[in-house]
Amino acid sequence: MKTIGFACTSADVPLAPYSFERRAPRADDLVMEILYCGVCHSDLHWSKNDWGWTVYPAVPGHEIVGRVIEIGSGVTRYKVGDHVAVGCLVDSCMKCDQCSKGEEQLCREGNTGTYGGFDRFSKDYTLGGYSKHLVVREEFALRVPDGLDLARAAPLLCAGITTYSPLKTWNIGLGSRVGVIGLGGLGHMAVKLAAGMGAEVTVLSRTADKNDDALALGAKALLVSTDETAMAKAANGFDLIIDTVPVKHDINPYMPLLDIDGTLVIVGQLGLLAEPHTVPMVLGRRRIAGSPIGGIRETQEMLDFCAEKNILPDCEMIRMDEINHAFERMEKADVRYRFVIDMASLEVA
Ligand code: NAP
Ligand code: ZN
Ligand code: ZN
Repeated sequence: MKTIGFACTSADVPLAPYSFERRAPRADDLVMEILYCGVCHSDLHWSKNDWGWTVYPAVPGHEIVGRVIEIGSGVTRYKVGDHVAVGCLVDSCMKCDQCSKGEEQLCREGNTGTYGGFDRFSKDYTLGGYSKHLVVREEFALRVPDGLDLARAAPLLCAGITTYSPLKTWNIGLGSRVGVIGLGGLGHMAVKLAAGMGAEVTVLSRTADKNDDALALGAKALLVSTDETAMAKAANGFDLIIDTVPVKHDINPYMPLLDIDGTLVIVGQLGLLAEPHTVPMVLGRRRIAGSPIGGIRETQEMLDFCAEKNILPDCEMIRMDEINHAFERMEKADVRYRFVIDMASLEVA
């Protein structure tokens, strides 16, 4: 089917309207009309080829909420009219040990990304949610719980699950002490989700500008990470620190903040860090870890948790043709706290 989206054709040109074909639905596929798509910092990295493996033309977008408009002959989970969501994954091998555990993001054969992947059958390059329609295998579509605001649900599909998953992995619950580095899209979801699980949350931000926001989001405090005195006072105070910083940075100031056996989990930048010092790790049995998104089962669990607790991101709605300005603002950390594209603003020619 013909559809339209916004694509970038090289790292240094703005995104622009782009017409392309979605595959005809296979038996286990559904076709969705995309209603909303969140704007993740990964979309910006991807457009600018920050990771070095972008293939152009590239259509970003992996925080997708829409409505089913057609189903393949074998689809059993969804019907036309259902509200569904798609995150960063559209396929995996579905039979390896990781997929069998519901950890498709860690598939031994490599998962298929919503954008920047290759369809396992047609080998076509995948194009993301900055578009009017998406064709996806039903197992990789999530059910949007009734009552969850559709527009604001979109960022849960990446920012939500990427922060929910490490909170679950490290057994965060009542009384856990959680730090969140960087109050952006992921960071503000980490605060809401950890607070929703009963944790005591502290935001670690570069300045005090977001102090009031941090408290309103559910944190007990904001610690200015450039204030050495305040950082020294906070030593040994955290069980888990979630690091959402999108660029190369120095984790050394944060490691002493962890208590013994504490973990700093990187969910942000992909690439080199400034040299980490081993002393806090060796002497305090502290750990550095990483975590990618989450599996399909866990993503559904997160959506249901958010519906039950009424946890939703703080969003600024934009039109599709405002995306380049939104990227510029995101680069300056000028977003409180997630842009969401209203896809009704994109007309099919
Ligand atoms: P975002 O909305 O732009 O937020 C990033 C935050 O990091 C900013 O609000 C800012 O917080 C802080 N920051 C920005 N530039 C910084 C710098 N130069 N030095 C120190 N801190 C800085 O981005 P996002 O959408 O949350 O994404 C964050 C990162 O996570 C991106 O790299 C993205 O690719 C990655 N990501 C990873 C996964 C995964 O599966 N692991 C999934 C989604 C996204 P303050 O102003 O409070 O300091
Ligand atoms: Zn993302
Ligand atoms: Zn697999």
